[in-house]
Amino acid sequence: MENEIENADPEFYTVGDLFTADKEIVDSLKLEYSSATPFEENLVRDTFNIVRDEMLNKYGDYIPDDARERLLSNKDNINGTNHVLILSEEDYQSFNDEWLPKLQQLNKQEQLPPLQPGGMWLRMGQVIVVCDMTEVAKRNWESSKKYFENYGQIDEEAMINFIKNSTVTALLTHETIHSCQGSIEHMDRGRDMYIRVALDECGVHYLCDEILKTKFPRMVSAPQQFDKERIEKFQDILKKYGDDAYGVLFQNVPKGVAEKEHYESLKKKIYSEFTEEDIVRLGIADRLTSKFFENAS
Ligand SMILES: [Zn+2]
Repeated sequence: MENEIENADPEFYTVGDLFTADKEIVDSLKLEYSSATPFEENLVRDTFNIVRDEMLNKYGDYIPDDARERLLSNKDNINGTNHVLILSEEDYQSFNDEWLPKLQQLNKQEQLPPLQPGGMWLRMGQVIVVCDMTEVAKRNWESSKKYFENYGQIDEEAMINFIKNSTVTALLTHETIHSCQGSIEHMDRGRDMYIRVALDECGVHYLCDEILKTKFPRMVSAPQQFDKERIEKFQDILKKYGDDAYGVLFQNVPKGVAEKEHYESLKKKIYSEFTEEDIVRLGIADRLTSKFFENAS
């Protein structure tokens, strides 16, 4: 298997292909890496439920059937989080090293940047993996506490928890929106793969911003790099092509011939909105058919 990867043309692999984990593996992972505290379990469940309901209520018409069923199948689940793994920074790293060997192989070939603590949506296995961000929150507090010197006594532990919870909420919201996207059979190849990642990130950043503003107004997470550019890009696409652009974002390919034709032609138009310059400006890759940036996902 590994030789096959080493010898393969990296372009052959799509982003979806890289994140390979089947359901049985994921179930065993949940047992093995069950480091979440009851508080984290609650945070994940509550956040996931809010984002899921918002996605179904507002954008349900544009979400593909398989993704909608996936979201709904979690609805009656007592935890609501069958599809979410929350891992410590250390476990997040070993998850990457041990369970995503293809991704690791490509990292070594410098096709993808090294893993940063954050979140990911595994299309195969249909799992959202989020780092618990405890260590990141501590580091962020250390580097920013000088700005709070004049505010008198500050409860550092409460501040660190606030940063951690805000960051996990933002990550989980982002990845839950990704999980509304269609299945791997519709993945693009080659040049279009870069454009697809750019469209994914612009659309997901836009929707994440909308949901965080309305549903989690008291959370203050550090602005993500390229956030503004990506949100604006998707706003422009919505202005130009209307709400059908959500269907293309979620890869909701219709079955009817005429509808499918409309979808394909809209997709072509939307893809043509992304120039090579945009791909670089939006922090996706250093150039088309070259390597992905750290912030791509
Ligand atoms: Zn993303």
